[in-house]
Amino acid sequence: MKEVLPTWDLAALYGDLAAWERDAAQIRPLTEKFAAYRGRLAESPAVLREAIEAQDAASRLTAKVYTYAHLLSDEDTSNNPNRARVDKLDALLASLSELEAWFEPEFMRIPEDKMKAFLDSPELAFYRRSIEELLRDKPHTLSEPEERILGTLSDVLGSSANTFELLNDADLSFGSVRDGGGKLVKLTHGSYRRLMEDADRKVRRTAFKKLYRRYKEFRNTFASTLDGEIKNHAASAKIRKYPSCLAAALSDDNVPEQVYTNLIDTVHAKLDRFYPYMELRRKMMALEKLDMYDIYNPLLPAASGRYPFARAEELVKAALAPLGEEYLRDLDRAFKERWIDAPERRGKRSGAYSSGCFDSYPYLLLNYNSTLDDVFTLAHELGHSMHSFYSHRAQQYHYAGYRIFVAEVASTTNEILLSEYLLRQAETKEQRAYLYGHLLDEIRGTIYRQTMFAEFELALHRKAEAGVPLSADELTADYYALNKLYYGDAVEADPLIGLEWARIPHFYYDFYVYKYATGMSAALVLAGNLLSGDPAKREAYLDFLRAGDSKDVLDIMKDAGVDLSTPAPVAAALDYFGETVKKLERELGL
Ligand SMILES: [Zn+2]
Repeated sequence: MKEVLPTWDLAALYGDLAAWERDAAQIRPLTEKFAAYRGRLAESPAVLREAIEAQDAASRLTAKVYTYAHLLSDEDTSNNPNRARVDKLDALLASLSELEAWFEPEFMRIPEDKMKAFLDSPELAFYRRSIEELLRDKPHTLSEPEERILGTLSDVLGSSANTFELLNDADLSFGSVRDGGGKLVKLTHGSYRRLMEDADRKVRRTAFKKLYRRYKEFRNTFASTLDGEIKNHAASAKIRKYPSCLAAALSDDNVPEQVYTNLIDTVHAKLDRFYPYMELRRKMMALEKLDMYDIYNPLLPAASGRYPFARAEELVKAALAPLGEEYLRDLDRAFKERWIDAPERRGKRSGAYSSGCFDSYPYLLLNYNSTLDDVFTLAHELGHSMHSFYSHRAQQYHYAGYRIFVAEVASTTNEILLSEYLLRQAETKEQRAYLYGHLLDEIRGTIYRQTMFAEFELALHRKAEAGVPLSADELTADYYALNKLYYGDAVEADPLIGLEWARIPHFYYDFYVYKYATGMSAALVLAGNLLSGDPAKREAYLDFLRAGDSKDVLDIMKDAGVDLSTPAPVAAALDYFGETVKKLERELGL
């Protein structure tokens, strides 16, 4: 009998479209109410407070209206009225941005002595953290006319990144490749990933060569778009008087540069934990040398068996037991209150996510297909949702949203706990080997690969700061050398891998990818803390889930038990990787 998969209960958010329409109609008046404070911020602490509260009221309702529209649209992306609702809302929000843009410049103009008194006033005590955060930007804010000029130029300054996106996602085509089953497959960014997992080496090599030869043809254009975007970062950092591009990018989260450089240095120091994994792969594939198209194909048969949703629920709950009874009770609400939309359906958005707002459940969208990977995805997305659930419950709206820097920590911790649980339960060598391999690939992709990107990105920015132009040949040579350093002697890469820089959109995101690596390192340490059974460590972890944005991200992590200002967490994560490689070697008798 086919299992009936759970669907989410959006009616808990809005009973019907009429109720949604009523709220949607309130967005403009609420935004206007906030805009009415224009010119008044400096009047008194009470007025500034009211303005902040008016802004929060507008954004809170907007998030609620938006959440419903986009969840409904993702249920069936081919449904035109749903799509139209999202588009109409986007247009409304764009038209309202003028009504909000005044706040920051006016806030910055409040004289310093007055601001000092404001900060000490009881009216603004709750908002002190936000205000201080805005004030951190003050030395980097220009005069009003200068800011207006930059605002006018912002589209122009972003044009390199736009051109990259259009070329990479729309204009560039890669032809077709025959997959292992003999089927002709159109080569796209999505199919390339799948083709890299094909068991047939010839298929993988053909796809690899075809893709990168195309990038090679366009290398000068890609070098120019990347150069343009990095120069944009460098110019903006200089204009705003930051000591470097890195300092400018990290200032948002108040993260010191050493967190970034520690990450790179620690990964370098621990590459000897990674090389044995490549050597193991080489042996398992019985190759003289690996190439870069021999890294993603699964070597171990997926643990056999199907996982009905009910079984997945059981496994995830058992795996998350180290989080304690209260967590498990709250986790159960995800299933009882119907936060989850599990079935694959025609027209439904692909993939998986956790999404919601302060006034909704932290919903989960899945495309559940009963594989072990799907069980991991459920654990992962529940990690996000429970993080939202606790932050929303513990914090007031103003500080309830957590930042990207910590966003993948709870989800990854859940995945590691699931992995450890399944390993304890595994009865055969094959099952254990598969689980070790799964874990190693996650850490390889999230810590080693993202750190390699982070290192390349830093080098690009340093060149731009020194006024050195980025040429295609130099980018390719530098990338090839870095790839060689990271993958070691078991790999002898096709020179075409040097072109990989051309296709990575993250190099346009201004120091973003390092957060994946620090996040997973933190998660590995925290999962270890939870498994130790120490109640104080568990409480510290739950406090992290409740923290939202009430403290700086590094403080949140430190209080949870991970001090990312030191190399220790990354080092511990990579040692864990090294140990796991040894365990896998033992299981395989290699
Ligand atoms: Zn995630």
